[in-house]
Amino acid sequence: MQEKYIVSVDMGGTKILASVLNSKRGIIARQKKPTNITSGTKIYVKDIAEIIRKVVAASKLKKENIAAVCLGVPGSVNPVTGIIGHAPNLGIRNYKMKSELEKLIPYPVLLENDVNLGALGVKSYGVGKKSVNMLAVFVGTGIGGGIIINGKIYRGFNFVAGEIGHMLVQKNGPKCGCGKKGCFEALASRTAIVNNIIYDVKKLKKK
Ligand SMILES: [Zn+2]
Repeated sequence: MQEKYIVSVDMGGTKILASVLNSKRGIIARQKKPTNITSGTKIYVKDIAEIIRKVVAASKLKKENIAAVCLGVPGSVNPVTGIIGHAPNLGIRNYKMKSELEKLIPYPVLLENDVNLGALGVKSYGVGKKSVNMLAVFVGTGIGGGIIINGKIYRGFNFVAGEIGHMLVQKNGPKCGCGKKGCFEALASRTAIVNNIIYDVKKLKKK
């Protein structure tokens, strides 16, 4: 039987990361590309398709060896329908990501919230190996939380369980990518911290 691999794609707010891997050989090829969302979602999906083609080429595998593509989405996603509800940092809302991407590549596409996938990774291979229940918190362009209950991802009824980045922590605080004010990630994500440093440095220069 042919050895099967999957292509994993991290749809980051600043860069797209793609790799080809399986549980036996680990990661065998990687590619990255800056995220460009200014030209709209259609162009962005073309970028995703292109990086998938590139990483499969770099892996030197045949089409038949790729079982599926899995996208890690920074936002709310319905893994059953393959529709992205809202990914604020990518400007995507109610988008049929699975069906649109499957038009461009010859592989089945699976979608899951990026932090849920990260939490599953921590549970399967990292410090969470021995934990049955856990909350994983990831800080980057935004802040995400992934909940594992009884060893499985807990998505909640509307697939947004664990999205702690948009909890209100400061009334009338700084504006968030989601449009609201004072969200946790508008105050404490890497982006927010860098913006604070830049603001303070500029203020000091004026003195
Ligand atoms: Zn928010």
